[in-house]
Amino acid sequence: MERKLQPIRLSVPDTEVQEHLRRYERLALEAGATRAAGIPAAGIPVDERVSLKCAVPKCFGYGTCANCPPHSPTAEQTRRVAALYRAAVVFGLQIPPEVVVRDRATIQPRVEAYKKVFEIASAVESAAFYDGHYLAVGYAAGSCKSTFCHDKPCAVLGGEKCRLSLRSRPSMEAVGIDCYRIAVELGWDIYPIGSDAAAGCIPHGLLMGLVLVA
Ligand code: SF4
Repeated sequence: MERKLQPIRLSVPDTEVQEHLRRYERLALEAGATRAAGIPAAGIPVDERVSLKCAVPKCFGYGTCANCPPHSPTAEQTRRVAALYRAAVVFGLQIPPEVVVRDRATIQPRVEAYKKVFEIASAVESAAFYDGHYLAVGYAAGSCKSTFCHDKPCAVLGGEKCRLSLRSRPSMEAVGIDCYRIAVELGWDIYPIGSDAAAGCIPHGLLMGLVLVA
């Protein structure tokens, strides 16, 4: 971060927010996203049924880290939070079918793809913060435990500092944001890939992240 910082303003004109969104879309794409779009925060679908899917049936990550249900912000909290923002950037990272399916042979590229989503969310959130959107906050995909901490227990749940304190964050789905609906409304192809999906039946996987900007 080399450029001179500008003082915080409490009111940023819509035209400027739109310019910033275009820049964050480019940033997400340059950082490795396949698709990116600025959207009105009012259009973000938040639905209790999304985070319910973490609990019924239990996801392998349920309760195992500070960023997954039941420890993550609830859908009700997220709905209230999203209503306080004007705009967001959503991005998608397209990954090959053999990487997205739960095959132990491709676990490393799958983990790398999830790491990339965390990296992009952090990069966009940081850019927005330094543009003066000091309340910008980003969400990633999947579980930070299976992405970063693997077999180690979550440090935060043990009362310690997070091992990835500026990188780890909840996934969109953990807080109830309906990624599927957002993708479909944007015209992005997304498929229902479950734990027993076969690579030959899937055109591609799509991992998504979102940053509430202003
Ligand atoms: S310590 Fe690991 S599992 Fe726990 S919140 Fe941080 S990154 Fe996630």
